[in-house]
Amino acid sequence: MKVFVTGGSGFLGKRLKLHRPDWTYLSSEDVDLTDYYDIEGFLLYHKPDAVIHLAARVGGIKDNADHPADFFSKNAQMNTNIVDACFAAGVPRLLASLSTCAFPNVVDEYPFSEKNLLDGPPAPTNLAYGYTKRLLWVHIKSMREQHGVNYSCFSPSNLYGPEDNYDLESSHFVAAAIRKISEAEDSVEFWGTGEPKRQQLFVDDLCRAIPLLLERHNTIDPIIVAPNENLSISAMVWIIKSIIGSGAKISFNRKLDGQQRKDGSNKMFMSLCPEFEFTSFTEGLNITYDWYKTSVHNRD
Ligand code: NAP
Repeated sequence: MKVFVTGGSGFLGKRLKLHRPDWTYLSSEDVDLTDYYDIEGFLLYHKPDAVIHLAARVGGIKDNADHPADFFSKNAQMNTNIVDACFAAGVPRLLASLSTCAFPNVVDEYPFSEKNLLDGPPAPTNLAYGYTKRLLWVHIKSMREQHGVNYSCFSPSNLYGPEDNYDLESSHFVAAAIRKISEAEDSVEFWGTGEPKRQQLFVDDLCRAIPLLLERHNTIDPIIVAPNENLSISAMVWIIKSIIGSGAKISFNRKLDGQQRKDGSNKMFMSLCPEFEFTSFTEGLNITYDWYKTSVHNRD
């Protein structure tokens, strides 16, 4: 099967390539997804059997807060173009990545499930990004209803692992914590109370899940891929500090706490892939820190 992956030069794409070197990985240099005719021409010429759509404008809280218009317009354009171009070029299979950030900021009951996707607005900190993922889901749903195509999507929780973005301006929590703690001389201060809980998905787990989803997931459910572990920020900081072996003093400034919970249920994913086993945070972090120590290229 000829499979093309957008976002192939990103964090997830680079790791996926190690798991599936037989697929073709695309960056914005190969094809600019904000240009409809570029992507349509590319797909008409190459005629892949399937497209896995990972490309996106992605970032942490600060990046989202500083550039909400970029997040909205780039992601809305890329997502709309890839779905329409796949259809126009007769690509029979599309699997696209949403994110659990698209789910409501608050739900009545945790963990939330796939049916909660549109129950309330996403967190204000990623409203623009979250809505573009919802648009992608609605677009795929509409294509399935109108044209009967096998297009589907999945929603990973926060990712961490080797090849993550370690730039402090735009990184996510785990990458930022690894960098801050490993570079600390005597103390590190974190925002908030440390009490909110988060599911952190080891990137290689998602790389093992994607081929299974490509083969098995043919419904409109925005299937949640998230580990069972739902650890508090302070527990994760403690694990990261222990693995690094840092003597730095850790404090929480008790300002600007994030959502207390945002955990999603992996029940639907596990019923589709009952053999799947998630990597524990401690094990994933050990692998990640081993990689971090020997890689300096993406820290600036
Ligand atoms: P990333 O490291 O920021 O990579 C983004 C990718 O998108 C790069 O390959 C980039 O190509 C490509 N891209 C950006 N603009 C493009 C354009 N105009 N045309 C073509 N390609 C373009 O992102 P990631 O962390 O790997 O995320 C991959 C997917 O997982 C995204 O859909 C994201 O929403 C989802 N996800 C990520 C997380 C997470 O914690 N990272 C959590 C949940 C879901 P260039 O290198 O050429 O710019």
